[in-house]
Amino acid sequence: MRDDAWRFAAVFLVCYVVGAVTGQHAIVFAVGLSLFIFWQYNELLKLLAWLKKRHQSHGPEQTGIIDDICREIDYARLRHSSREKKLGNFLKRFQKATGALPDAVIVLGLNGEIDWANKKAEQYFGIKWPQDSGLRAANLIRVPELASHLKSGKKRIEKGLQMSSPVDGSVQLEIRISPYGDRQQLLVARDITGISKANQMRKDFIANASHELRTPLTVISGYLESFVDDEVCPREWKTHIRQMRTQATRMQNLIEDLLTLSTLEASEDDSTQDVVRVPDMLSGIYNEAKTLSGVMQHNIELEVEPRLYVSGNHAQLYSAFSNIVFNAIQYTPERGKVSIRWYSDDRGAHMEVRDNGLGIAAEHIPRLTERFYRIDKGRSREKGGTGLGLAIVKHVIAKHGGNLAINSKPGEGSVFRCNLPVSRIVPAVTTSTALDKDVSNFS
Ligand code: ADP
Repeated sequence: MRDDAWRFAAVFLVCYVVGAVTGQHAIVFAVGLSLFIFWQYNELLKLLAWLKKRHQSHGPEQTGIIDDICREIDYARLRHSSREKKLGNFLKRFQKATGALPDAVIVLGLNGEIDWANKKAEQYFGIKWPQDSGLRAANLIRVPELASHLKSGKKRIEKGLQMSSPVDGSVQLEIRISPYGDRQQLLVARDITGISKANQMRKDFIANASHELRTPLTVISGYLESFVDDEVCPREWKTHIRQMRTQATRMQNLIEDLLTLSTLEASEDDSTQDVVRVPDMLSGIYNEAKTLSGVMQHNIELEVEPRLYVSGNHAQLYSAFSNIVFNAIQYTPERGKVSIRWYSDDRGAHMEVRDNGLGIAAEHIPRLTERFYRIDKGRSREKGGTGLGLAIVKHVIAKHGGNLAINSKPGEGSVFRCNLPVSRIVPAVTTSTALDKDVSNFS
């Protein structure tokens, strides 16, 4: 039996005996039990006083159930302090590890406020933790794109956001944001100064080399041209000279495409905001496509929304749209069908070219917009292709905030669609009829 039960039994027995001797059972029991309860209460008060002194490790000298409670509490305190020590050590190790990270890491709260930041965050953004804890990141990192991202409530910056460090302008950073924990966001900034310098050198090299090659090639082509037409040039030379001229023209096309790509890469975003009359542009391309088709007699159709204009760069859009149309002619056998459509819906404006030509196997589709990627190199060269056309298209459309979608099946044909966002559509001039959507057909 437990101590407490013995103690209670003893009190009961004493009360019983004294009650029997005095004949006052009720009074003796009342007094005896009250004293017992008072004693227990006193013991509990001692326990409470001990609990309040958090640092005193051992409980008061007691017996019975209160002693058991003290022991359990002691044990729980011991476990808690060893867990606290472990967590403390883990936190120190974690802080050391994040301090050694080459990237800045910032944990943002629900409203974009700083919850935690590592040492690199101070070096890259001047954010000090814990001093800046609770301050809004957008107020400390003054980059419009980041501020608008944080305001938009979007959870992720998929494509790295590039910016100069507000602390040291020579440091180029790439920022990524991803959702983290319970509605928090993790901002990671990486130093890409080396990569962006190497990229810039590559771009400059291609642009300079293309520029330097352009002039001598123009001179060579000019002389070859005049030799072909020159009566005094021996007839047996002419075939060779024609071949040389074809190759020179290919090189010129290549250089022009390389220069176009360099220009596209050099401009940060599309600053030109012409009103581009795409229907007129497409009818010009349609006529050129007919000429290109020539004896191959393709069945070319054009369907446009006549007043669907977009804001953008006229030359760039012309280059993108004509590339897709001319590709369709070149990769569709004679008498094949090529349909050009320019239309709008609630997602934006779309330029679609559909052909029933060779088609493209699925494994090539994701790589078609890579520079110099060609499915059949021989065929592409034979048709005067540079392998840069679709890379230019992708760049141009991306600069206009859109994307290029390609669907194709070998033997059935292909669909190339340039999707431009609604924001690019120029609202129709509000004459009484201008808002009606009518469709013009050319064929
Ligand atoms: P190229 O100058 O070789 O035409 P592009 O970048 O314009 O280069 O196109 C890349 C490759 O995509 C082409 O070599 C061709 O194999 C394929 N391609 C492009 N358009 C079509 C099409 N309409 N049908 C089939 N294949 C196509």
